[in-house]
Amino acid sequence: MTHRPNLSHGRGYLAIPGPSVMPDAVLQAMHRPAPNIYAGELVDMMPGLMADLKRVARTEHYASIYIGNGHAAWEAALSNVVAPGDHVLVPATGRFGHGWGDVATGLGAHAQVIDFGNASPMDLERIAQALAEDKDHRIKAVLAVHVDTSSSVLNDIKGVRDALDAAGHPALLMADCIASLGCDRFEMDDWGVDVMVTGCQKGLMVPPGCSFVFFNDRAQSVRDAMPRVSRYWDWTPRSTATEFWQYFNGTAPTHHLYGLRVALDMIHDEGIEQVWARHGVLARAVWAACDAWAEGGDLRLNISDPACRSTAVTSLRLGRNGGTRLRDWVETELGLTLGIGLGMAEPGDPARDAYFRLGHMGHVNGQMIMGLLGGMQAGMHNLGIAHGRGALDAAAEVISGA
Ligand SMILES: *Cc1c(COP(=O)(O)O)cnc(C)c1O
Repeated sequence: MTHRPNLSHGRGYLAIPGPSVMPDAVLQAMHRPAPNIYAGELVDMMPGLMADLKRVARTEHYASIYIGNGHAAWEAALSNVVAPGDHVLVPATGRFGHGWGDVATGLGAHAQVIDFGNASPMDLERIAQALAEDKDHRIKAVLAVHVDTSSSVLNDIKGVRDALDAAGHPALLMADCIASLGCDRFEMDDWGVDVMVTGCQKGLMVPPGCSFVFFNDRAQSVRDAMPRVSRYWDWTPRSTATEFWQYFNGTAPTHHLYGLRVALDMIHDEGIEQVWARHGVLARAVWAACDAWAEGGDLRLNISDPACRSTAVTSLRLGRNGGTRLRDWVETELGLTLGIGLGMAEPGDPARDAYFRLGHMGHVNGQMIMGLLGGMQAGMHNLGIAHGRGALDAAAEVISGA
């Protein structure tokens, strides 16, 4: 092997599934002195910001903001509608489905988990069966993850609504769109979702620290019938605030709001349909390359059916430890950071080093994806990892649109 200089200097690409790449415009909007939180620009900005958040969620109902990550949004949403002793149905398709169910358990609920494994979407018939068996309607909510970021599976949330309606079951439909919002098509009102949670650091392109819970009147009436709701998590004052501090139950996440304002402008200027379409093309380029590599080696897409793959994140397996070797190489040699595998193998299982993930969510374009794929190919070449040919051609063909 000939000696060559290290090629990691220059602007990197953090291709992990959150936090995602931040636009310079978002960073610049946040680079400012502390603002007044009692009057002025920030206070005046709020009604428009709330309206634009709801536009991304595709809802005309209510939105609440929390200073916290996605885990905080999980707890916030459940705290408003699930009391100790209540039952929830958890159709899990990866680590995050189990995670949300575990938060419900921590709040004293009985979580009935249906485990669909790590490589398949929810089976709607099994959900329908669980709903049919629940003759007394003890299940109060279904906790459905739209995109499970560990497996990169895309679930049919509208299908869960149809199953609830067909069973005549009154449970709330709650959706986790932390990985998918602003990437994969999601229609809160049209799909009949009652509660949706998301965070700001994935498709919304803002540093971690804010999360959001959206809900409708059905969910509000369930909240109103709760024996008690913790003051801090209560979404009612946050969603009906008349004073600035009420949106946050305390001091505002000032700089996040400036960043979010710019990020929402970017999404709406591009158009949400265009944003989804862009993610679709970029993801198909990634899959085309992976299919070509798979022809002559051990690389495998975790989700075999393209219709069940997220366009925000791709979970992969490479040989026995190829994932970790490739990640290490492209990061040190090329300045390209790939995501670790998550929840695919138990701790201590050597197969853990086979799994890795690509984040292609948010502020990502065609040249970044070609760079990502070219970097991976260089890594496999350098490391002597067998791989099929023609991957970059296949990706370029998708990107070209011809
Ligand atoms: C990232 C993520 C979470 C957790 O969010 P944190 O901000 O890490 O707490 C939950 N669910 C899904 C689907 C995610 O992608």
